[in-house]
Amino acid sequence: MNVEEILATLIAFPSVVGTPNGEIVDWIADYCQAAGAEVTVLPGPEGDRSNLFVTVGPRAGRGYIISGHMDVVPAGEPEWSSDPFVLRREGGRLYGRGTTDMKGFLACALAALPGLAAMNLRQPVHLAFSYDEEAGCRGAPHLLAALPTLCERPLGAIIGEPSRMQPVRAHKGKAAARLEVIGRSGHSSRPDLGLNAVHAMAGVITHAVAYGQSLAGGPLDQNFEPPYSSLQVGVIAGGQAVNIIAGHCTADIEVRAVPGVSPAALLEPVKARLFDLRDGGFEVAWHELSSYPALAPADGSKLAAVLTELTGQEPLTAVSYGTEAGLYQQAGIDAIICGPGEISRAHRPNEYIEIGELAACQRMIEDLGARLAA
Ligand SMILES: [Zn+2]
Repeated sequence: MNVEEILATLIAFPSVVGTPNGEIVDWIADYCQAAGAEVTVLPGPEGDRSNLFVTVGPRAGRGYIISGHMDVVPAGEPEWSSDPFVLRREGGRLYGRGTTDMKGFLACALAALPGLAAMNLRQPVHLAFSYDEEAGCRGAPHLLAALPTLCERPLGAIIGEPSRMQPVRAHKGKAAARLEVIGRSGHSSRPDLGLNAVHAMAGVITHAVAYGQSLAGGPLDQNFEPPYSSLQVGVIAGGQAVNIIAGHCTADIEVRAVPGVSPAALLEPVKARLFDLRDGGFEVAWHELSSYPALAPADGSKLAAVLTELTGQEPLTAVSYGTEAGLYQQAGIDAIICGPGEISRAHRPNEYIEIGELAACQRMIEDLGARLAA
């Protein structure tokens, strides 16, 4: 199968984030086995979805990981001009949900696999495909926990998020949480008998916003735009009617952290303020929605040098979106972002990738294999 046929197959499995992914995992596993690779399916704790780990070449020795996620964001936008789960070719472009983010990259790796298997590799190439990345990298931590049982510590991991095939060395980390306040409802004419959850949440948010603004004072990292960590309240919901004391309120808050700052730790003052409400008789709950660490630029990275040679492009220091690369770095593995397509096409209607972009990426993976061949 060529890369376009593989991509058409992958796109036809919707594999929307947060849903079971057995069908796409089974297909990829069968394909890789038929290509002569060793395949391990790693079910996650959810029970109905799995990560996938594939090795081509010798099991021993330190190799490279080609990393991508199998899930895609939903495709409910009315602007789609054709079925987002049927690959449509128009000129040099291939349209469909996940073409750029990031089944195009998976298709390149899979299309390169038979060629890699035919090379006499001295060191292995691994494919590490995760689930539920779009929900805040839910699958990858389980894959990384199992990694020491699957291979020697890799020389590096290439995370194929769309970067126009330019290597990228850094991104911010992120954590998001839903805050919940439960008060006591009642007629608004007797506020003295109730506990207004919206009022209480307003206090927490006012504090969070002021605290978020203080983050502009540092720590600073000039690789990023803006150069400081940030906080925002993205969603708020609560109450029933203007004449009913609001018994319930929720708010979703996220922080984006520069390297060296723990995203989860950044949320701690907000959490403490929320839990203070218990003193006033409120019930509160803190639901962690997602969390992944920043990717810090690694000085003197051999992987960055390898990618510069393979792509002919000097690395870009930082991007504004997040990836699984920070998790690989946290696990002690040199990690870099490099993949086909542009991030501006991701998570949008009529997402597409160019045939030429796929060809360049497949060539990069084959050239990486050639460097490891005898
Ligand atoms: Zn992605």
